[in-house]
Amino acid sequence: MSRSVCVRCGGERERHDQVCPSCGHRPEGDGLLVAWLLSTESLSEAELDAVRDRIRAGEVIRPTERMLARARRALGADFASDAGLDTRQRMLVLATSLLLTPLPGLVVGVWWWNDHPRAARQALALSLPASLGFFVLVLWLRSLE
Ligand SMILES: [Zn+2]
Repeated sequence: MSRSVCVRCGGERERHDQVCPSCGHRPEGDGLLVAWLLSTESLSEAELDAVRDRIRAGEVIRPTERMLARARRALGADFASDAGLDTRQRMLVLATSLLLTPLPGLVVGVWWWNDHPRAARQALALSLPASLGFFVLVLWLRSLE
């Protein structure tokens, strides 16, 4: 079972992304990184106990940029440099979807699914309606024959 210590009060909970049962602190944004660092996923039980005692003694915990970066990597996609597709990439996906085939958007969507979920969702969101339109177009062209 994992443990996580509340950065605000030193209270304990099971998972780093849970609301603190002692003080109601809810880790959000970069706070989730700090919360992860203050858990057994990042520290040993003994280290976590030591940090908990420091917090309870009133010490403010400020992780270094390097530690935050480590947490960001460990937590993965949600905190990675996954800013999604920029406008040019969106236009490119949309243009290829409409002009050629929605396949590149679908491939990119599936390919990026693990590493860049946000960009992948955007690529799929752009190409799925396009593929639907593509199908309708094909059906319509066939009906003309
Ligand atoms: Zn708390």
